[in-house]
Amino acid sequence: MSPILDNHLHLNPVNGRGAAAAEEFARAGGTHLLVVNKPSWSLVGEVDDEAGFRETFDLTVEVTRAASETLPGRAWPVLGVHPALVSRLVDRGYTPEGARDLMQAGLDVAGEYVADGPALAIKSGRPHYDVDEGVWEASNAVMRHAFAVGAEVGCPVQLHTEAGDDFGTVAEWAEAAGLPAGQVVKHYAERPITGPVASVIGRKEGLRAAAESNDPFLMETDFIDDPDRPGAVLGPKTVPRRVNWLREEGYDAAVRRAHVETPAAVYGIDTEGTLADA
Ligand SMILES: [Zn+2]
Repeated sequence: MSPILDNHLHLNPVNGRGAAAAEEFARAGGTHLLVVNKPSWSLVGEVDDEAGFRETFDLTVEVTRAASETLPGRAWPVLGVHPALVSRLVDRGYTPEGARDLMQAGLDVAGEYVADGPALAIKSGRPHYDVDEGVWEASNAVMRHAFAVGAEVGCPVQLHTEAGDDFGTVAEWAEAAGLPAGQVVKHYAERPITGPVASVIGRKEGLRAAAESNDPFLMETDFIDDPDRPGAVLGPKTVPRRVNWLREEGYDAAVRRAHVETPAAVYGIDTEGTLADA
């Protein structure tokens, strides 16, 4: 058995399948997971202080622990603040600056869960939809704060951003904050990108392009574990299935790059050493 890591998936312990979805991943051949917290509002409702973020993170740590038990490898939590929270807060009467401050406080808490707890990385970014200037500025400030937190506690930052291929400027902001660009991961990359490490969504075209490139890359589903939107996204079996397909196509070295070498380089995790002999 060799490692198969889904770099970005959600497990919803409140009203989704939770750890059962991890079991499905394991049955398909998956071994390791990075479990990203669902947006705070979908787990605990509206959040106006640090306590709401802690509750969101605790639920995610708990379901990740349960998921880990179902895997031949293991699962780690990735904790952060969803970039769309800024819009929810502004709709509720916050100024962009007030929203920024609250979201930065949430990222500080996520950093604590890395420094003193079980989390492997933090997550931030900026809206993937059009927003006005004030909200955009606030969002960039939140993202840059995440880089500072990552640099301080020594952990990678996963990013949720607009679509695109060139995030060189964003990677420069990370470097300026003291976080190497190689520890910045663009979640939901559609193909290889400039700047951060691409976490390529599990579709064949983009994966083939990543495999053909010499760049480090990761693979993900962004499974959302939402009972109201079944089939809206890729399911938990997708990464193992795409790994099988890549192997059939002769991309064995790229599979190793995505599931052993890049995870080691970005997160410092040993996906082979943490794999039980099966
Ligand atoms: Zn996601």
